[in-house]
Amino acid sequence: MNRRYRKTIIAGNWKMNKTASDTRAFAEELKPLLSKAKWCDIVLCVPFVNIPAAIKAFKDTRVAIGAQNLHFEDHGAFTGEVSAAMLKDLGVKYVIIGHSERRQYWNETDLTVNKKVHAAIDAGLYPIVCVGESLEQRELGVTMELINLQVKTALAGVPAEKMRHVVIAYEPLWAIGTGKTATSEQANEVNEEIRAIIRRLYGARVARSVTVQYGGSMNAKNAEELLAQPDVDGGLIGGAALKAADFTAIINAANQE
Ligand code: PEP
Repeated sequence: MNRRYRKTIIAGNWKMNKTASDTRAFAEELKPLLSKAKWCDIVLCVPFVNIPAAIKAFKDTRVAIGAQNLHFEDHGAFTGEVSAAMLKDLGVKYVIIGHSERRQYWNETDLTVNKKVHAAIDAGLYPIVCVGESLEQRELGVTMELINLQVKTALAGVPAEKMRHVVIAYEPLWAIGTGKTATSEQANEVNEEIRAIIRRLYGARVARSVTVQYGGSMNAKNAEELLAQPDVDGGLIGGAALKAADFTAIINAANQE
């Protein structure tokens, strides 16, 4: 983390877990635990149908609500889809874009990710753009090439002044939901490269202000070491965000004096 130049953001990704009633119960459990959360922003990306309950339950707290996806079109005949304007109107602040599960199961590509990033920014939402390599790609030694392609394509056409809305999450596929975490050196190495890509695209001032998270089996035990890395500006957390105590431990690790 480097709190001098950029925000630390701890974001939970609930995926397809919890009902609206579970969301209210989770909020009651989490809210009293947040007293140490002075420095970082906290986000919970909940299923679409839980958004109104989450917004209400976390009103007047430090917890902002995010979605896990959106459609890039404004409106129209796209059965089952949700637009950026619909999310904004509910009070959503962040939206995860290009999560590896969406790329894997719903064929999202770098090009659709780019369209979604634009849709989010145009609606005044903050996209959390996920990038990351598979184990095969890491073993072939093409991680950095792939990350370059993913980040450059995701950001194509995004003007420098909008970059303060953009968060990037490095999520190696082999670490998501597997209990296998990247070492802090591996996480920092890729996050540093992501910042270098942003520097080449937008210059040093923008690059140092962008939050670059790490995601992939971050938990109460490993969060402190990962977050101590200079280019790891927070976490995108799946499994460990489902339990208030575990999520709080990660938040506290991001709030060390
Ligand atoms: C994720 O879903 O983005 C994620 C990082 O999951 P987990 O923390 O469970 O690996």
